[in-house]
Amino acid sequence: MLFYIFIFFIPVAVWLILQIVSKRNGEEQKQPLLEVCSLCHEEFPTDELLEKEVGEYSRVYCFCGNCIDKLYHEYHAKTEGEGVLGDREKEAESGEHPLT
Ligand SMILES: [Zn+2]
Repeated sequence: MLFYIFIFFIPVAVWLILQIVSKRNGEEQKQPLLEVCSLCHEEFPTDELLEKEVGEYSRVYCFCGNCIDKLYHEYHAKTEGEGVLGDREKEAESGEHPLT
């Protein structure tokens, strides 16, 4: 009787262990490494962030696409918004909003 119990339980135990191990590996692969954006402090997968060395101590900061986009538009609003109205009018005519 004990023999049959062993025969039955050993494959089941091995199968369970394999299931648990493969599940863990799958979860690790699914979860990408998250990093916090230095500007908006939201978490993003590292492959969606741009890493830049900043300052004398070469600290690496991460920036997300949204923040880079905002900076880009802020910069253009500042440099072009003062004198050149032609581009603004063109944007209004084509229906593209610069901040979206
Ligand atoms: Zn951000």
